[in-house]
Parts: sequence; C-alpha cells; structure tokens
Amino acid sequence: METLDVSDGFDVHEYRHGLKLHRQDGESMYLVNRADFACPACERPFDRLFVSSAREVTFANPPDAPFCLVRTPDRLLLLTH
Ligand SMILES: [Zn+2]
Repeated sequence: METLDVSDGFDVHEYRHGLKLHRQDGESMYLVNRADFACPACERPFDRLFVSSAREVTFANPPDAPFCLVRTPDRLLLLTH
C-alpha cells in the first residue's frame, strides 16, 4: 500500500492514476481513493480525499466517518475512513 507523500507538499497529479475526481470547485477538489492509497496521518487506507488551497473552508455537513487532517505549506487535506 502506497502512502500519500506530503513531506514536500502534495501534488495530486502524482496520484491521479488512483484518485478519481468527484468534484472540483474553485480552490478545492473532492477525490475518491481507487487505489488503496494510505493516509499520511494514520497510515490506514482512506475512502475520500478533500484537498484545498483555500485559506478558509467550511463544511456544511461533517463527514459521517472518522477523518484525518493533514496540512502542507499550501494545502489542507481531509481524509475520511
Ligand atoms: Zn487517516
């Protein structure tokens, strides 16, 4: 299982072969994990990945699952399990 590498930021293009783009709006992307990538925070496989370069993000509905947060210098990642 490959863990997303965020040690030098996060580039979604490195993982696009296994991440299906579900939705994109402005500075944010919602992706589905199709390749059993592992979460960089807890090292378990995740279901969905939210990536944003926005400074502020609001979620109207909280994830209905455990989730992890990962930050890079210019991105926020939210991974649900
Ligand atoms: Zn996690």
